[in-house]
Amino acid sequence: MKIIINNNDDLEKFYKKIKYYRSILFIFTKFESNNKDIEKIIYALNIKNRFKRIDYIYEEACNEIDNYNKNKNLCNFKNNICRNKVKYGCCRKCYNLGNKGCTTSNLTCKLFFCSKVCDKYKVLTFEDVKILKCLSFNNQVIIKHDFFTKKEELLMDLYVGSMTIFIFRYLYRVIIHRLIRKI
Ligand code: SF4
Ligand code: SF4
Repeated sequence: MKIIINNNDDLEKFYKKIKYYRSILFIFTKFESNNKDIEKIIYALNIKNRFKRIDYIYEEACNEIDNYNKNKNLCNFKNNICRNKVKYGCCRKCYNLGNKGCTTSNLTCKLFFCSKVCDKYKVLTFEDVKILKCLSFNNQVIIKHDFFTKKEELLMDLYVGSMTIFIFRYLYRVIIHRLIRKI
């Protein structure tokens, strides 16, 4: 199926249709397009293995955000105090925080910035990273809420794709790690 994009209207229509294109109805469809801007989305839609598609989307979304934020001093840390005057910033209670910063690559965290940052910079939101539309509805909700977890744990939540299991797994991780920090 060839996706023809000639203008912004076509592009917006395509983004709206991704929820159908990612579904089982298009499991045997090979997508093509005349537009370079959507080539990564087309590539993701052509990955028919669910786990491999999630892996690809995750990596591409992280790369897009990292490249966009490259060379910007968003949180402006000085002596470990951030722009919002919080020591160690949002990561202060996270078990993934190491001596040199975050020790993992959490997509949910990459999409979050407080109002102090947003007032100063345009940052990418979930809606801006269009490739995330290739994820199922459940996985889009999980991506918006899975803070403080390791990349591998977040990917596991996406593979399972169940909101109920996600909530239990998330609460379990928070409780266990709070206990570990107290010991
Ligand atoms: S997002 Fe805001 S609160 Fe979090 S580390 Fe950056 S400046 Fe601090
Ligand atoms: S997982 Fe998130 S909260 Fe934890 S250290 Fe990394 S960026 Fe900070």
